[in-house]
Amino acid sequence: AKWVYRFGGGTAEGRAADSALLGGKGANLAEMAALGLPVPPGMTIVTDVCGWYYGNGKTLPDDLRKQVLDGLAAMEEETGRTFGGDTRPLLLSVRSGARASMPGMMDTVLNLGLNDETVQALGHDAGDARFAWDTYRRFIQMYADVVMGVDHEIFEEILEDEKAQCGHEYDTEMSAVEWQHVVSRYKEMIEEEFGEVFPQDPHEQLWKAIGAVFASWMNPRAVTFRTLHNIPAEWGTAVSVQAMVFGNLGSTSATGVAFTRNPSTGEKSLYGEFLVNAQGEDVVAGIRTPQSITEEGRIATGGEKPSMEKLMPEAFAEFKAVCTTLEAHFRDMQDIEFTVERGKLFMLQTRNGKRTTRAAMKIAVDMVDEGVITHEDAICRIEPPSLDQLLHPTIDPKVQRRVIGSGLPASPGAASGEIVFSSEEAIAAEAEGRKVILVRTETSPEDIHGMHAAEGVLTTRGGMTSHAAVVARGMGIPCVVGAGSIRVDARNDKLLGVGGVVLKRGDIITLDGSAGQVLAGVVPMIQPELSGDFGRLMEWADKCRRMDVRTNADTPQDARAARAFGAEGIGLCRTEHMFFEGERIHVMREMILAEDEAGRRAALDKLLPMQRSDFIELFSIMSGLPVTIRLLDPPLHEFLPKTEAEIADVAEAMGMEPGFLARRIDAIHEFNPMMGHRGCRLAISYPEIAEMQARAIFEAADAAAAETGAPVALEIMVPLVGLRAELDYVKGVIDRVAASVAEETGNATAYLAGTMIELPRAALRAHVIAETAEFFSFGTNDLTQTTFGISRDDAATFIPTYQRKGIIEHDPFVSLDFEGVGELIQLAAERGRRTRSDLKLGICGEHGGDPASISFCEDAGLDYVSCSPFRVPIARLAAAQAAI
Ligand code: PEP
Ligand code: MG
Repeated sequence: AKWVYRFGGGTAEGRAADSALLGGKGANLAEMAALGLPVPPGMTIVTDVCGWYYGNGKTLPDDLRKQVLDGLAAMEEETGRTFGGDTRPLLLSVRSGARASMPGMMDTVLNLGLNDETVQALGHDAGDARFAWDTYRRFIQMYADVVMGVDHEIFEEILEDEKAQCGHEYDTEMSAVEWQHVVSRYKEMIEEEFGEVFPQDPHEQLWKAIGAVFASWMNPRAVTFRTLHNIPAEWGTAVSVQAMVFGNLGSTSATGVAFTRNPSTGEKSLYGEFLVNAQGEDVVAGIRTPQSITEEGRIATGGEKPSMEKLMPEAFAEFKAVCTTLEAHFRDMQDIEFTVERGKLFMLQTRNGKRTTRAAMKIAVDMVDEGVITHEDAICRIEPPSLDQLLHPTIDPKVQRRVIGSGLPASPGAASGEIVFSSEEAIAAEAEGRKVILVRTETSPEDIHGMHAAEGVLTTRGGMTSHAAVVARGMGIPCVVGAGSIRVDARNDKLLGVGGVVLKRGDIITLDGSAGQVLAGVVPMIQPELSGDFGRLMEWADKCRRMDVRTNADTPQDARAARAFGAEGIGLCRTEHMFFEGERIHVMREMILAEDEAGRRAALDKLLPMQRSDFIELFSIMSGLPVTIRLLDPPLHEFLPKTEAEIADVAEAMGMEPGFLARRIDAIHEFNPMMGHRGCRLAISYPEIAEMQARAIFEAADAAAAETGAPVALEIMVPLVGLRAELDYVKGVIDRVAASVAEETGNATAYLAGTMIELPRAALRAHVIAETAEFFSFGTNDLTQTTFGISRDDAATFIPTYQRKGIIEHDPFVSLDFEGVGELIQLAAERGRRTRSDLKLGICGEHGGDPASISFCEDAGLDYVSCSPFRVPIARLAAAQAAI
């Protein structure tokens, strides 16, 4: 088998399109090499070897050895160096690279090939012994950490101790002899702790490093990352072995990372950071504060140290040209790693850059304007769920800010929460429903769970490309990094801000991730602006989609928000939700607990005017757009008092004796209320309830039409129907009330009467039910519950276990089960339309806001999806992508 693909010297065996085989890094290195860009030569061991490795007891295929040695020989020839040689030694980087980018999750070994002899040769060759010893100690540190499992903190301690003894503050002040001494101490420590000498054979080093990189595919943080990002374990990682170039070869050398456009705002300007006389790890580690690449960037961030543009004008000019080439070639913003070795530029990596949603939007829209991509490309470049980031609040510009510190604006948006100092605390707080801000000196990949649990992240060290910054942008949570004016004293649960402010764990702070500010307390926020790039992209999406997007809204507030987000009507108004609040719940309880029809009617008389005025408001807000009102569908347990204290309260409010109330609750108690006296069953037992609701609806429709001048596009929906006769009965009540209201007002309101399809029997009998129903709305919450036989209320106790054990891939209550529930939908749509060809079809379960489910609905030929207000833009975009 061909396990190894080479690149370098202006040619390559693979291309960018081969990322499944070569990993993203390997594929793009090949592409850059083939484009003739300055890429150090190397080879990529394909992802299939990762599968082989795990399938064969963590060993490597026999015929890999020769292919790697051949690749090595080619690299030696290209560079004029020898691996393990006693003159001009060739050093290697051994890096991971999966098909999808997993930044910082897997392992890398740099400077491989050094030992007690080659270090001398390297120093001699470079004419710089200090460089050689610095490089050797870096290699030992990284190799021992990655391959031998030595805790890197032990090395940090030795290094700090050495620096203190020599009176140095920075690594760069260390001399050759001092580094050499560090190397001896490192090696001694390894011998003492592990009883083995640090391996001196470069080939042994290489094979162990390759094995370690494959092994890192399964390390816990990589596994967690894959779970969070739905990356299959089968993909595996590739391993790229490349000739080293050195950014730590004195003051004409440097290393850096750059984005071809600003990853936070999307602004079209080169954006990046670099460090003189350093290796790549130094930039990411945030030990020294990096310098801006461009003059413009330096001025914008108030940087004191010179930009690369000033310091290395020739390398900068070449780099800028390469960036332009790469962006034009990949037709997308690139995230680039580079090194300058004694003035000469080398490209080490390029990939489509991660960006905030705001930036993604701006870049997509700009690239359409630049003629680089089409409207459809732009629509497909935005992940629908990420729109959420734009829909969240920012700090009200009018408020007085109590700034207690500032840093870099690493990820935009604003959030408030209690201060916590560890990821464990953040996770625990989230479980209790508390909002927290994770405050750290810096974060590492171990913190991803904690960052997920937090509303925002604050670090006191690191730059725009530090771990915290990159990960927070990916997650879409606000983040401020490098807030050097704040001191974290985690041991004493304290945070010290500017002006002597002291805050404790649990105190509230607010982050402004767009301004890079940290504020004390809770700060008023404002809703986002939905115009500009967002508006343009959504307009394009609206032109592309076939399905309508409606909203699930029960209150005027929801309805207004949904309209602002572009909803084209209400697909589900859960009337029982209109009675959750304030005084209303008492009347609702009175109705539910009434002993006889007279008692019920008395309560219903009080509910009627409330319903009517709510409906008038909803109809007016939706002026002329379709509004689907669903008749009462209350799972009774959601409305009844539970504890003794609650019962006492309710009894008092209702002027009842608590003992009597308790008996009444007992009498109507159900073992499984979700499958109990709910939906149309209630309307059949107590038709007076449906009567009241129908009256409120028709009277409101009449009033709203008079008020707004637009006739109400009314759809009345009957829930939980399994039998056609159920629907016939309830529709009979609706039709009778419609006729009498028309007689009273002199106006007949046109309406459709339809049903939810949320029981398997209804799906199966759709052709019969459609004889009565004028529309279907798929209630996929109940349809999932009843198809799986999994209680909606209890699913959370075991679904996560199912996911972890690979029994199911995702929670079927979140993303539609295409095979089972999906087949019922297809079948019901088909059978229903056989009876009634113009039958209107929609979905109003939670799945109506889930992009994958929306794509399914497109294929099933539904007319609309309906989702919660904040999901409306997501659904508009997902519906467009489904149609493209
Ligand atoms: C459903 O069952 O999918 C639905 C929308 O109704 P509810 O969630 O109110 O039961
Ligand atoms: Mg339902």
